[in-house]
Amino acid sequence: MCPMYALGIRMGKKALEVLGRPRENGVKLIAVVEYKNCLSDGLQYVCGTTYGKNNLYCLDYGKFAASFYDLANSRSVRISVKRDILEKVLEFGLKGQEVKKLPPSNREEEAREHFKSGAEIVEELNKLPDEKLFSFSEAPLFKPAEEPSLKHEICQRCGEVVLKDYVKVKNGKLLCIPCYSNFS
Ligand SMILES: [Zn+2]
Repeated sequence: MCPMYALGIRMGKKALEVLGRPRENGVKLIAVVEYKNCLSDGLQYVCGTTYGKNNLYCLDYGKFAASFYDLANSRSVRISVKRDILEKVLEFGLKGQEVKKLPPSNREEEAREHFKSGAEIVEELNKLPDEKLFSFSEAPLFKPAEEPSLKHEICQRCGEVVLKDYVKVKNGKLLCIPCYSNFS
């Protein structure tokens, strides 16, 4: 019922097709999304790229595109949602934001209508071939951040474990970030 999620599913499938590989079970496929929303949920479901595996990144550009890098065969591609499709889906999203603001008493009927129109848009999108939904271009160069070491310290204020790379020092004390910020 969510058109943006449906687009993410389609985009993920297309990315795997273009890269000529199956869903990632390890960490060789990297996806870089350009905004955090349902589009990235859809493609992470299909591609197996997740924040937990450190192979999903977000460059917060407020754009509806993602780049995919297959480290196993050095292939990559950037896929963006076409403008006419996007405008339609964003209009649906805006309507949803309005429905959320309604008082609970008159929200139910409006929400039902909204879900229905979402399902209709998804059905329309699913009838269109990938070429009508997406544009394809060369993926920009992307260097994934190095995985932080699991070496750790104990914060000398709250006593919790914190990765060494994240430790801050104030007045000779080793501190986690929140303790560092609140330390006086
Ligand atoms: Zn602390």
